[in-house]
Amino acid sequence: MQVFKFGGASVKDANGVKNVAEVLKQFPDKKISVVISAMGKTTNALERLAKAYFYKTENAEAILEEIKSYHFDICQKLFPASSHSIYTELENTFVELYWAIEDEPTQGFDFEYDQIVSMGEIISTKIVSAYLNEIGLNNKWIDARGLIQTDNSYREGKVDFALTESLIKRDLEKVFTSTNIIVTQGFIGGTSENFTTTLGREGSDYTASILAYCLNAENVTIWKDVPGVLNADPKWFSHTKKIDQLSYHDAIELTYYGATVIHPKTIKPLQNKNIPLYVKSFLKPKEEGTVIKDGDKRLNIPSYIFKIDQVLISIQPKDFSFIAEDNLSDIFDLFSKHGVKINLMQLSAISFSVCCDHDIIKIKTLVNELQTQFKVLYNSGLELMTVRYYTQETIDTLTLNKVILLEQRSRYTVQMVMKNEIAE
Ligand code: ASP
Repeated sequence: MQVFKFGGASVKDANGVKNVAEVLKQFPDKKISVVISAMGKTTNALERLAKAYFYKTENAEAILEEIKSYHFDICQKLFPASSHSIYTELENTFVELYWAIEDEPTQGFDFEYDQIVSMGEIISTKIVSAYLNEIGLNNKWIDARGLIQTDNSYREGKVDFALTESLIKRDLEKVFTSTNIIVTQGFIGGTSENFTTTLGREGSDYTASILAYCLNAENVTIWKDVPGVLNADPKWFSHTKKIDQLSYHDAIELTYYGATVIHPKTIKPLQNKNIPLYVKSFLKPKEEGTVIKDGDKRLNIPSYIFKIDQVLISIQPKDFSFIAEDNLSDIFDLFSKHGVKINLMQLSAISFSVCCDHDIIKIKTLVNELQTQFKVLYNSGLELMTVRYYTQETIDTLTLNKVILLEQRSRYTVQMVMKNEIAE
């Protein structure tokens, strides 16, 4: 059994859906679990819808109308017969969404967000599954909410692996006796009370990895619009190189530092069962791509991870005392309470510096609360550059015309928080 994951970019239009079928046709007679994300930028649109509904910032119905017509347009290109059952099925799904936004919210934003935003994956998988059946790639649509079991941490559901594994084994192994292909949603799960959760943005890779773990899959392939894992994001760097092979260790380090090619949680379940992960181009499915697997082979080229819009917060005790374990634990509690993730931290005698993404609302409330106990200084508009397998030459080039505010080096990795030098 293999697991394939197709992200939003691969199913952003009717041709994308047709291409998924072309890729699957290259693997006749194989048992494949296909994990699909919401189409194109639907998750962003649904996020807007959830905010409009909850905070009444915009006209929620108009946003829903846009989302609906985007999906119906795709369907019209895939299913010319207007009597096709997909149309009734989608109408019913959208009616549920209209009803949901008519009622006043009953719970917190994160809960309502998950009930709404998860629908992107439900809709995309219904369309893809129906299209594959239509052209003879017989498959069964599976509701991931009944398999991937999480706690009720909405928007960041924590997977109960033992329960999920027993459900997946019980249900999917049976399904595979009568079909070769199953189509299911990435990113979403369910709680013991049957509410929907999501696993965090870009979480469909993680779903693919959970399924592979639970089914002892031969391998996982993430089909992308790039030829494989590159040593830098082409958005920021012009001379990128494809990496042919990557160890689990390097992959986890790179994703931890912010390489967006794979969701950071994807690697662990695969590493635990030694399941190789391929990253390949959905446009050139026959090409090699990248394989991530067990091994201690180190990369022989530097890899770059660049994050913009960073903030550097410097926290100092008000009375000039040392930063010690007790106030560090208070500080970490506050970061966790406000959901602020730390990208880099550094400790000196009387100051603790932390670099994080500049989420304006979260940072403001965090800083306000920190200020009740500490003196807090902060600097925004910064960049965080991480280079794995750096050389001095790469550092010199990257820091040209930059002011470095904080730097950390280990044997293989250097991280620098910097800003542009202002010309005198
Ligand atoms: N659709 C979700 C997102 O855009 C999950 C994913 O694509 O992995 O974040």
